[in-house]
Amino acid sequence: MMVETYSPEETFHLGEEMGKKAFPGMILCLSGDLGAGKTLFSQGFAKGLGIDEPVNSPTFTILQQYDEGRLPLYHFDVYRIGDVSEMDEIGYEDCFYGEGVCLIEWPQRIREILPEKITEVKIEKDLEKGTDYRRITVEAER
Ligand code: ADP
Ligand code: MG
Repeated sequence: MMVETYSPEETFHLGEEMGKKAFPGMILCLSGDLGAGKTLFSQGFAKGLGIDEPVNSPTFTILQQYDEGRLPLYHFDVYRIGDVSEMDEIGYEDCFYGEGVCLIEWPQRIREILPEKITEVKIEKDLEKGTDYRRITVEAER
């Protein structure tokens, strides 16, 4: 599936719609450059899950957990991870193989521990189409 958005609100809305359809054990990998809209998408997704508290990039913690929605949400931002062993320390397996939903920003940094069944969301800019344009490609798990 490919969606084009022309404003932050549209990307938020796409996240929200996907959050409404999220299922237990779902893992979404969000790739795209800094400022692409991964966190904005995550914020919409959280809203779709029924989470009202503010969702931001988990800057110093790598993982932020939200329990107030329809399903537990595990929001990872592994941008600053040094080594995958840090994921063990966090206890990522309980999140990846549990009943909640994982959102992972910068998934390529932990490629070796990603399960096979993931949904990939790729957000790309195209400055020729304007600064607020994003092409969002969603490849659901097979
Ligand atoms: P990331 O987490 O990928 O680094 P953020 O979600 O934190 O990115 O930031 C995305 C920035 O791009 C926000 O400032 C947002 O307002 C801006 N923006 C502009 N147009 C869009 C769009 N169509 N979709 C998403 N973000 C957009
Ligand atoms: Mg971010």
